[in-house]
Amino acid sequence: MKKRAVIAAFLLFTSFIVLAQVETTTLTEIQQGAAVSKAKLPKGHYCEYCKLNYPESHFPCIMKSIKGKLDAVTGEINFTAGQPISGIVVKGSKENGDLLTLTTNEKGEIEFNNTATGNYKFVVSVPSTNPNSRVAGSPIGGIVVKGGKKPKDSSITLITTENGQIELQNIPAGKYKFTALGASEDEKNNSLLKSVYSEKVN
Ligand SMILES: [Zn+2]
Repeated sequence: MKKRAVIAAFLLFTSFIVLAQVETTTLTEIQQGAAVSKAKLPKGHYCEYCKLNYPESHFPCIMKSIKGKLDAVTGEINFTAGQPISGIVVKGSKENGDLLTLTTNEKGEIEFNNTATGNYKFVVSVPSTNPNSRVAGSPIGGIVVKGGKKPKDSSITLITTENGQIELQNIPAGKYKFTALGASEDEKNNSLLKSVYSEKVN
């Protein structure tokens, strides 16, 4: 019995030491954190692209990778007019078809193969690779999507709705390529620019 009591006392004592060490570590880390932020290097705390404060490290920044600027007040993402937008997600499908999940390449391009005439619905969004980002997964409205049948057709020009949507109706079989671009103010206000394209039936 005595032996057990000794062991119990020893364990209790050890746990106090561990607790004390944890407290010491935490305090030291807080002090170091304060010192770091005072030294004007708040690594991963304030993001120049998002214009937001993040509680922890914030790399890679989604806004940086998609070359967009976030308006901290409205939460709107803005892109430079005419500039291709890389790294954004274009998700959609043909009716009753498989879901396509595409990401624009460095030139802002996506490609897909349409095996038979049909209708597509797509949603363009910010990738959700960084859950710390306020805008992760948000739809991107008001950007231009331009392209057509490969290799050279670029007769289709669409602008995404505020929900990031575009539609392609009745497009014939073939390989298609589209480029996502930042819209100018004129394009954003151009009522002739639609989010739905419908191929004429012969
Ligand atoms: Zn950021």
